[in-house]
Amino acid sequence: MSDKYIDLISSGAGKNIAKRLGLPQPARLRRYLPGAPVIDGPVLVTGPASDAGDAVRTTLLDWRLDVRRHAAPGEKLGAIVVDFTSVAHPADLTETSITVGGALRDLKSGGRIVVLTRPSCAGDDAPVAAARQGVDGWLRSLAHEMRGGSTANGIAISGDVPASAPSVSGALRFLLSGRSAFVDGQFIHVTSNAGSLPEDWELPLAGRVAVVTGAARGIGAEVARVLARDGASLVVVDVPAAGEALSKVANTVGGTALQLDITSEDAGQRIIDHAVARHGGIDIVVHNAGITRDRLLANMAEDRFASVVAVNVAAPLTINEALLASDKFTNAPRIVGLASTSGIAGNRGQTNYATSKAGVIGMVRATAPRMESVGGTANAVAPGFIDTEMTARMPFATREVARRLNSLQQAGLPVDVAETIAFLSSPQAGGVRGDVIRVCGQNLVGA
Ligand code: NAD
Repeated sequence: MSDKYIDLISSGAGKNIAKRLGLPQPARLRRYLPGAPVIDGPVLVTGPASDAGDAVRTTLLDWRLDVRRHAAPGEKLGAIVVDFTSVAHPADLTETSITVGGALRDLKSGGRIVVLTRPSCAGDDAPVAAARQGVDGWLRSLAHEMRGGSTANGIAISGDVPASAPSVSGALRFLLSGRSAFVDGQFIHVTSNAGSLPEDWELPLAGRVAVVTGAARGIGAEVARVLARDGASLVVVDVPAAGEALSKVANTVGGTALQLDITSEDAGQRIIDHAVARHGGIDIVVHNAGITRDRLLANMAEDRFASVVAVNVAAPLTINEALLASDKFTNAPRIVGLASTSGIAGNRGQTNYATSKAGVIGMVRATAPRMESVGGTANAVAPGFIDTEMTARMPFATREVARRLNSLQQAGLPVDVAETIAFLSSPQAGGVRGDVIRVCGQNLVGA
């Protein structure tokens, strides 16, 4: 479904009218194209001197990017990497902030700011904690100020993890690339040195078997397509009633279809048996199937509340127990749950849905440590407003307003959610555990 407003204001006349009337001016986002450079243009790496800055310069040079220590006035930049890992007092942020501010006007459309930081923790001295927490506010505000489809995100690297860790490189590449087009104003947390770099960055999932539930349409179908593009073999799962659409998706991605209601008691074992019998293993499970049954709580019937909880979080919980009990799910496995910004910020009419989606966040947090011994991870993505069949049914005016209420002033596409899931499913994300990545364009409401 195309965004006609973006089409309109992308024309010369439309752009002028939007400017004069002070209307939103969303840009076309730079999205990933296989074979395209990670980022187009030089990358400025700036910030107080640190080992992390040096490690990141080496990584960027390995990717054959044009790395700069100083910006040449007037020269267009593809990205700015800001190293705040060594800040020990809030005053340490001033000089670099002014440098970044000066370079911003030279950032290309679709450019990127990526901030490296160490998260503040309980044992920090107060000035250190203030500086590290200050980076959080700095980034969230800067993301609101970006223009031309550019984004600002960060990588929060836990104290004992080196900046050369696979997941620091993995997160950096994800955030610089068009894969993160609708991810804005937040940090990816790298909490361990686990994970490994892929042999081929274009096929990071080669040799992996992935299961996607609710894959007959919408976001799930797109997740299947992107995981297959990245090299995975696919099992696509959906209810029998969606069987025809499911077969089409399976054919498109060269995978197999499994007709299954995920709330059935033996769903986990059936998924494992199918994946092992047809593909020889099971490495990645994406809990995408989900439903909404919106009502104000005052008008909520019990079955509406119960069914949303049953599909969105109780079924993934039960399936995970089967996966964790299985000796087939032990090769650096990945679980990715679908949360929602409603589960973070809350949403009127969605007590049932928000309960289930916040539940998914709790689920991955508690599941990740149980997977560590086999190099596994569990994480969640939280989509904001995404253009799908579900959101197409909203009344026009409500949809138009909802689409613009984020820093990028547009809806995300299913592919944006799929790219983030593909990142979390990859070997290079092995050090990201129990985290939640919002795919919401920095939704202005709550999250
Ligand atoms: P959708 O309704 O288009 O697709 C969901 C799929 O899940 C359908 O094919 C459906 O048949 C399947 N499904 C439902 N119950 C099932 C069950 N019991 N067993 C097996 N399959 C089942 O939804 P979507 O918009 O593509 O959303 C996908 C996921 O993303 C959901 O978890 C949703 O909550 C989440 N999400 C979507 C948005 C958005 O803006 N579209 C925002 C936040 C989160």
